Amino acid sequence: MTWTIRILAGLLIAALALFYGVLPPRVDAGMNRVEPHEPYSVSAHAEALHAATPVADLHADTLLWMRDPARRHARGHTDIPRLREGGMFLQVFTAVTKTPAGQNYEENDAGSDRITLLALAQRWPRRTWGSIEERARYQAQRLHEAAADDKGFAVILSREDLEAALEARSARPDMMAGILGTEGSHPLEGDLAAIGRLFADGYRVMGLQHFFDNALGGSLHGEAKSGLTAFGREAVAEMDRLGIVVDVAHSAEAVVEDVLAMTDRPVIVSHTGFQGHCPSPRNISDELMGRIAEAGGLIGVGFWADVVCDASPEGIADAIAYGIDRFGEDAIALGSDFDGTVTTRLDATELPALTEALLRRGLNERQVRKVMGGNAVRFFLDTLPGKAEQTL
Ligand SMILES: [Zn+2]
Repeated sequence: MTWTIRILAGLLIAALALFYGVLPPRVDAGMNRVEPHEPYSVSAHAEALHAATPVADLHADTLLWMRDPARRHARGHTDIPRLREGGMFLQVFTAVTKTPAGQNYEENDAGSDRITLLALAQRWPRRTWGSIEERARYQAQRLHEAAADDKGFAVILSREDLEAALEARSARPDMMAGILGTEGSHPLEGDLAAIGRLFADGYRVMGLQHFFDNALGGSLHGEAKSGLTAFGREAVAEMDRLGIVVDVAHSAEAVVEDVLAMTDRPVIVSHTGFQGHCPSPRNISDELMGRIAEAGGLIGVGFWADVVCDASPEGIADAIAYGIDRFGEDAIALGSDFDGTVTTRLDATELPALTEALLRRGLNERQVRKVMGGNAVRFFLDTLPGKAEQTL
């Protein structure tokens, strides 16, 4: 009897060790891969241009994984030390809070959720197990904690914060800024007041949908492909009022049209490719992209094959060149989707290879600077609320 109990206890401990200790890093490493490749060669010209550019990226899901963003890791695509090594100045860190089982680009329903199991396995606080809002709030807390011990990393809450970080960068080139964003607005859980709570937690970018239709409207990968709901309209109006940037990545085309019709504030598509360059159910029409750009919006070009068809630095450069050609050099930025369960051909340390590829593709220095970060920095300087304007 005692032996049976001992064996059972041993098995239980082994199972727990597997669930909590082994599984999360394995899942992370397996889902956020960098394809093996020869080291990229970067010319002195590209190195110098890269170093002189405040590099910016509109989308990374790093906060989802059981990795302290302040410490360097060997798995996944990025963390603050690796971003620094790659010359990154401004990174939007996006909170993933609910994803369906069997996630695909065509059609998903909201019935299942893989993040609950991940939250349990990664030993997230109990409050996150049953609350999607708490998952967003916890991920914000993780970035604030990373910033607390690092004088060279600031979480940006206002235009003045970004100006100060830019100023600091002239004295210390490794200065970094992070902006918090949500991947979809299901963390609101139908409560408009949650926008104010997330704003107070530091969120300055909010996606409307992720892989499934939610209370705000249709996902590009949902069942209905419908536009904004009445609640969705109220939510966008509240984001406008607070100065939160609306991100229409993953939104159904009807949602994008409704948002463009109801607001004058420019929106972003934080991580995407172009339908006319790489036909994919993940990319919205060029016509709609044109209207986003015309309204002063910003389009972040992704680093994975589903959106750019070829994920090599040359392939990403090709997508960027297409975007500049169609939508203008002021509308295009980077939207890596680092750590977003995608396979890439470069990690954060290898970003100079993209500057090299853009120069080789024939872009001039001004265009490279804009795409690699200048446009995103200007966009946030223009759209972030000033300190004095922040009233909840
Ligand atoms: Zn995404």
